[in-house]
Amino acid sequence: MIIHCPLCHKKTTWEENPHRPFCSERCKLTDLGLWAGEEYRIADESADETAEEEGTAGEGENSVDDSDRHGI
Ligand SMILES: [Zn+2]
Repeated sequence: MIIHCPLCHKKTTWEENPHRPFCSERCKLTDLGLWAGEEYRIADESADETAEEEGTAGEGENSVDDSDRHGI
């Protein structure tokens, strides 16, 4: 016998279902309100902003080399 979980509306079986009429223990406990206030959420928000500032001062060198003169 196929039934629908009254909580998440997922299909489950009536027979061999220890959590009927729910589909799982979680839905059963949720319906009973045992999960209220204890709702754990998997939040993996790692705000890791590493701002590395490397100040490379570009020095422009103008080397004027006129030591090679040909004087007649
Ligand atoms: Zn369910």
